[in-house]
Amino acid sequence: MNLVDCSSVDRQELTSLDVAEALALDPVNAPAPQDDPHHACRSCDNASRPVTRKTVLLMMKSELLDRVNQDEYRFCSDPECRVVYFSENGGPAFMSSDLRVRVGLKEKIDPVPLCYCFGFDEKDARDEISGTGTSTVTQRIVALIKQKMCACPAKNPSGACCLGEVNKAIKRLMADAADSG
Ligand SMILES: [Zn+2]
Repeated sequence: MNLVDCSSVDRQELTSLDVAEALALDPVNAPAPQDDPHHACRSCDNASRPVTRKTVLLMMKSELLDRVNQDEYRFCSDPECRVVYFSENGGPAFMSSDLRVRVGLKEKIDPVPLCYCFGFDEKDARDEISGTGTSTVTQRIVALIKQKMCACPAKNPSGACCLGEVNKAIKRLMADAADSG
């Protein structure tokens, strides 16, 4: 079942301004990521973003729930770093393998989740691009954000909306498709 009428979807890549505008539409359910270089990841030293304890608990393998303490956790968005969550108080850090879901930002082998609220992954986008020459994924996500249908803090391990990362991934997949002819 199509949630969005694709015939009305405008197939264009989003500018960073479009992404910023879409991410301002529903800050509760689809919050913009807030990567902050002043809160560096304990492992890779790159910017991290705040994440709620609830998001951490919703992602964690059940046998590790007791290790999630009352610390304030942060999410590392660096694709090469295996740390997903850490606290700045020196408590335990959690790696990709500690989560029940695959962290798409840190995975390179299918399935690579792009959008957790609505289930788009990289293969969907790659298939659409090879079939039609373009992708409607970002526009479909924007339409759903507008309808306030997102649930990023409960669905996305980063606690934030995927749109900016999806837009980057689509640009990369379009370039890959163009390169391979
Ligand atoms: Zn890191």
